[in-house]
Amino acid sequence: MTVLENIPLAQYTTLGIGGPARWFVRVTQESELQEAVAFARLHSAPLFVLGGGSNLLISDDGFPGLVIQADFGGPVHNDLRTQTSPVRFDVPAGLGWDEFVEMTCRAGCTGIECLAGIPGLVGGTPVQNVGAYGQEVSQTINSVRVFDLKTLKFQTLSSEQCGFAYRTSIFNTTHRGRYVVTRVSFEFALDETPTLTYADLLKHFKGQPTPTPLQISDAVRAIRRSKGMLLVKGDSDSNSAGSFFKNPIVDQEAVSRIATALSIAPTEVPNWPAANGSIKLPAAWLVERAGFHKGFQMGRAGISTKHTLALVNLGGATAAEVVALRDAVILGVENLFQIRLEQEPVMLGFVPLR
Ligand SMILES: Cc1cc2nc3c(=O)[nH]c(=O)nc-3n(C[C@H](O)[C@H](O)[C@H](O)COP(=O)(O)OP(=O)(O)OC[C@H]3O[C@@H](n4cnc5c(N)ncnc54)[C@H](O)[C@@H]3O)c2cc1C
Repeated sequence: MTVLENIPLAQYTTLGIGGPARWFVRVTQESELQEAVAFARLHSAPLFVLGGGSNLLISDDGFPGLVIQADFGGPVHNDLRTQTSPVRFDVPAGLGWDEFVEMTCRAGCTGIECLAGIPGLVGGTPVQNVGAYGQEVSQTINSVRVFDLKTLKFQTLSSEQCGFAYRTSIFNTTHRGRYVVTRVSFEFALDETPTLTYADLLKHFKGQPTPTPLQISDAVRAIRRSKGMLLVKGDSDSNSAGSFFKNPIVDQEAVSRIATALSIAPTEVPNWPAANGSIKLPAAWLVERAGFHKGFQMGRAGISTKHTLALVNLGGATAAEVVALRDAVILGVENLFQIRLEQEPVMLGFVPLR
């Protein structure tokens, strides 16, 4: 284990923003974790676990502690040979997520085909319970192996113990910063009809026979590419952290308020049903309606030309510029609709607001 000093973090993020980490260590084996924690304790340094850096906004001042890059390798175990459903996969946290999606789709498994093209590593996916095009990773997670930074012991958490909900889990709420994910165990159905519920996908396959999981994953990547939601070299729209805002969950009263603000009928406000009779609104639509269009720019930060929800680094942007744009969007939406958008990416190295 080699601990490096003053390592610029921008290179480890998809936004390409962030000052230096005081210390930085790449960890590839579980056995190295104890040593990394001992180092942090010796220097009374805070710890941060880095995955693929695709859901992060790191401050221009960087992080004054030890960044552990969770690049756990090792074998992928599966019981595909039995050809009985469900099929189990036990995967190291450092495997690229999209590589894993491809692997399962090729094997004829259904469950994560709609999550193709999401950047980052396998270990990052349970943290915010990644979701897209009608699927959430929690629907296939059986258990998560973690190292508990409090007890310094390894533990296996069941899916229930992970407390998954829309873009949340215990890892980014109640137990934030406590666990390092080292492996994730999944269960997939074999040879079942893949998920085909989202309008974009239905349109893509209109008039065609039921697609295979592999065909769906390819279609999802193509749709993502057209929206700047796939990491594509040379496409400045992919210098982002994906969707910067979560879709707000509201009640019917909020829908009426929006309709009044825009002088439209409540039925014209796009929405989906959410848990417990509540309503999920598309944040992108609210942002557009508040006057922040695709291609909007504020300094060197902007909104993607292909997707209203992605804040992008137009080249040399600072974290402060992204924060200023974020705040302008939040304020604009709040002033018009009295709905406060919640940020999706994790912030690192910022002074918490009191
Ligand atoms: C172009 C683009 C498109 C995207 N599309 C989607 C989408 O459709 N749906 C979606 O949900 N997300 C999307 N994202 C966000 C992001 O890709 C996911 O949240 C991803 O799972 C983050 O994984 P990561 O490895 O990059 O984690 P990081 O960004 O490195 O870290 C994110 C958080 O997870 C924690 N973490 C990471 N790895 C571990 C670990 N091993 N143990 C403990 N904690 C860990 C970090 O501490 C941090 O709090 C998109 C991002 C981009 C750039």
